[in-house]
Amino acid sequence: MSSPVTTTHERSKPKIAVLGSINMDLVIRCDQLPRPGETVSARSMSEVPGGKGANQAVAAARCGGAVRMIGCVGDDGFGQKLLNNLLNESIDCSAVLTAQACESGLAIVSVENSGENAIIVIPGANARLSAEDIQRAESAFADCDVLMVQLETPQPTVLAGIQAAKRAGVKVILDPAPAATLSDELFDVDLICPNESEATAIVGGRLESIEDAAEIAKRLHAKGPAAVAITLAARGTMLYDGATIELIPSIKVDAVDTTAAGDAFAGAVAVRWAATGSLRQAIQWANLAGALAASRAGAQPSLPARQQIDSASS
Ligand code: ADP
Repeated sequence: MSSPVTTTHERSKPKIAVLGSINMDLVIRCDQLPRPGETVSARSMSEVPGGKGANQAVAAARCGGAVRMIGCVGDDGFGQKLLNNLLNESIDCSAVLTAQACESGLAIVSVENSGENAIIVIPGANARLSAEDIQRAESAFADCDVLMVQLETPQPTVLAGIQAAKRAGVKVILDPAPAATLSDELFDVDLICPNESEATAIVGGRLESIEDAAEIAKRLHAKGPAAVAITLAARGTMLYDGATIELIPSIKVDAVDTTAAGDAFAGAVAVRWAATGSLRQAIQWANLAGALAASRAGAQPSLPARQQIDSASS
């Protein structure tokens, strides 16, 4: 086993805040998805903790971050299970609210034998997290190095988080997922990290070649973020910081299930950027995290730990 790569300026536990969704995925396996009006029997059903916010919090915690989750669960049976899952990953949940008379965020994921799926997302308590809640929780941002946000909570809530982080001098990473039209103020971040379809949903155009990715990264940068990292799956990541544009390649893996590759990437960028101060170095390392996640099945179960990422780098 190789020794971990460390950097002279690296601090032991970067402090990462994650403002985002917390969901329970109900994964239903059946031979064939039902057509409208049809009833089918399932072979199995499993409860799998998910939600982009929670996934990224778990990713950052496994990468060695001291992580605080800012979010909202419901007062149904899933709420406590979702909190316990985060607590098991040593994530600080003191800023996770419980909405009364409200269901937790749910995703009903039906998967048929062919691998085809159909997903219904119920935002539930995630939609209850308001800008006022964030303003009341301002102290949750104060002592952090990096805030991570995504778009599975309402945009005014995300904006309140970005503004609170800015006031506290905290770096902000926006993963604009799922693909959406964004209000202009949301671009006032230190890094935006869309995948290919999210990037084109924002600035339009087609992204096929590496040249397209470079062009789209520049168009995204013109919207306001200090840096842009477009994740290009097996091709790696296109990084543009306003001065240098560069494709940072990933490693070759046998991709089994790319679910949560982007979440593994985002969590790793946050931790490594906070630890080293080098965005380029953080993205190199995060590419490895994304590749490892793509080489394993599932969402949270596939998120790699720091030592595994370090081993993949040698
Ligand atoms: P998302 O899951 O958001 O669509 P991507 O699929 O682009 O995000 O993956 C995020 C990062 O993970 C990529 O930039 C890349 O570094 C790494 N990655 C993902 N899939 C692979 C793969 N098949 N081979 C190598 N690296 C991968």
